Amino acid sequence: MTVRTRADLSALPSYVPGKTIPGAIKLASNEVSAGPLPSVVRAIADAATAVNRYPDTAATDLVARLGQKLGVAPEHVAVGCGSVTLCQQVVQATCTEADEVVFPWRSFEAYPIITQVVGAQAVRVPLTEGHGLDLDAMAAAITPKTRLVFVCNPNNPTGTALRTEEIERFIERVPRDALVVIDEAYREFVDDDAIPDGVELAKRQWAAGRDNVAVLRTFSKAYGLAGLRVGYAVASPAVAETLRKVYVPFSVNALAQVAAIASLDAEDELMARCRAIVGERARVRSELVAAGFEVPVTQANFVWLPLGERTAAFNEHCLAHKVIVRAFVGDGVRVTIGEPEENDAFLAAAKSFEG
Ligand SMILES: *Cc1c(COP(=O)(O)O)cnc(C)c1O
Repeated sequence: MTVRTRADLSALPSYVPGKTIPGAIKLASNEVSAGPLPSVVRAIADAATAVNRYPDTAATDLVARLGQKLGVAPEHVAVGCGSVTLCQQVVQATCTEADEVVFPWRSFEAYPIITQVVGAQAVRVPLTEGHGLDLDAMAAAITPKTRLVFVCNPNNPTGTALRTEEIERFIERVPRDALVVIDEAYREFVDDDAIPDGVELAKRQWAAGRDNVAVLRTFSKAYGLAGLRVGYAVASPAVAETLRKVYVPFSVNALAQVAAIASLDAEDELMARCRAIVGERARVRSELVAAGFEVPVTQANFVWLPLGERTAAFNEHCLAHKVIVRAFVGDGVRVTIGEPEENDAFLAAAKSFEG
């Protein structure tokens, strides 16, 4: 190539999406296995007749609707083209070159990539032995250069979740000029009351004069719209406004906006689906534990098998059984909870693994 591009990008690992193989069961991307509800498909089809027009770049109806649902004014809500894009927007909104982004590791694989793409400095803080976020170590990693801290709750890929008082104590230790972003991509699968609703937690912080807490959520997981790309941030009005400044115009498309609203209309049905997945999660975990696997308690729609050096072999074994899992080589395997038959196929593969 004759074009001079940024030298630092050649060392940047690409985001690795979960594999799709025809005929195989895909449990690699934390999607819900069930297809979209008929009412949502209808809303998308109706909106398709108007795609010659640009979408509402402010996503006014969706933002209003989210504000109502969450009990916040619309100024607190910013949408993004999936919450992964909002992760990038928060880095862009807070950091320039010398600034630091603190995040747990292993966690959402987009955090280090996005941080480097924006050109800020990544500070990875290892998880605890129990595969959870080490908030003491994260607090200790904060320096005067820290502008942003990601708290993934529940954590992808380990499924572990932090309790309300743990997060509140942590926030007290974060300087008010650094933004704490609670990434709640899996919030709808949480069934333990000790785990906070991040939006409610953030509201209490704002009321106490701390505006440096924000929450990210998505329609990709529990709401089943991964293919349409829409997520949202709930933040103080000043932070939300900055997120809108770095928003790529029109990036939440018109079909995504109507599908998100239709999904909020059908929320009861979608949350019933989530409860079924949560039930399957308990079954899958207990069968794995009974089969001798270590599996941290999970509050998300996946389980984590910290297989270390056996990860690659387990991944191959599952593929041979036509089950696609998500392997992080040398570390572990993340397996999405699917429909009961899909989970049975995975469990059969796992139980026949001799590694
Ligand atoms: C899946 C995921 C997201 C983003 O999902 P989008 O499809 O971009 O909305 C964000 N954070 C975590 C931790 C995730 O696992």
